[in-house]
Amino acid sequence: MEHIGDVLKQQWQNINGGGKSGYHCDLCHDTGYIFEGDVAIRCQCRKEEDLIRKQKRAGITPHLRHMTFAHFDYSLFSDEKQGSNGLTFRENVHRIVAAAESFVEDIANGRTVSGLLLQGYVGRGKTYLAASIANALVERDVDVRFIVVPDFLDELRATFDTSSMGSESELMNLIKTAPVLILDDLGAHNYTDWSIKTLFAILNYRINYELPIVVTTNLSVESMDELLGTRITSRLVEACRFFQMNETNDIRMVKRHREQIRARRQHESD
Ligand SMILES: [Zn+2]
Repeated sequence: MEHIGDVLKQQWQNINGGGKSGYHCDLCHDTGYIFEGDVAIRCQCRKEEDLIRKQKRAGITPHLRHMTFAHFDYSLFSDEKQGSNGLTFRENVHRIVAAAESFVEDIANGRTVSGLLLQGYVGRGKTYLAASIANALVERDVDVRFIVVPDFLDELRATFDTSSMGSESELMNLIKTAPVLILDDLGAHNYTDWSIKTLFAILNYRINYELPIVVTTNLSVESMDELLGTRITSRLVEACRFFQMNETNDIRMVKRHREQIRARRQHESD
């Protein structure tokens, strides 16, 4: 006589498909574990589920999931020399990817690091690279949040409208305190006083607690200054190493901001 549990399990599997053996996972027979001698090891199928759960938590959408350092397409970048540092565009991108990889390595090893700001026109691989960083961090078990700035501001605004006055939303807290925060597309949007104040609060908190950020933007430092104001631009300059993913070179503005920050610190310590 068949055991009722087996009958139910078989019916469940018939409904849900499953592998040749009738199980979803032929390796572990859906137990989640494989035995090597007396030792139970977590099955590959559960590791994949774990990874997807972590990616979801990090804000990595299915579209971003496959963007990895290993698949970065260098051939999109030309062999022509670019103006600023004597490298070709492709060599320059190699340098930026290497910096992104060591950013991940440093964080995974618990070292304090400067953030990264990836500047470039649309379609220069900024989001791809930012997502590669997020994916690599998730794989190394680092808690990271990937947010698309305009979408995040809309979402946050909605929680502010519904939540009681004065209490900071859970979402805002999560973003301020995430061990690593990726701000994708800090672009030319209509920033209100509220969104500028919000962005400043996030950056300021993260700098004070030495929590790294990665930013992608198609804004030059000048337009950043114009759109977001000097306070935010100075915070970004302070928190990040700037990388250009195209030929526009406004390193002078970055330098000017650095000098301003130095002067301010000098002034504060006097
Ligand atoms: Zn399995």
